[in-house]
Amino acid sequence: MEKGKQSRVGEVRCPYCFSRFRPKAGVERASCPNCGWEWYVSWKGKLAKIRKPVWESWEQQITETQQKED
Ligand SMILES: [Zn+2]
Repeated sequence: MEKGKQSRVGEVRCPYCFSRFRPKAGVERASCPNCGWEWYVSWKGKLAKIRKPVWESWEQQITETQQKED
């Protein structure tokens, strides 16, 4: 549940590890500092939104870490 604090504007939540981080304003891509996955970011004014994974870097990570099976 979102609490909607104003200070959270510009933050996104990583869809992979669910930690919050703040991409630099206006960037096209941002990597999560917690898990390292890279995401495309879209902006509506100051609001950042994760759009989709950057597949090239996912492929790199998967190669490095091997696929996890759940
Ligand atoms: Zn993450």
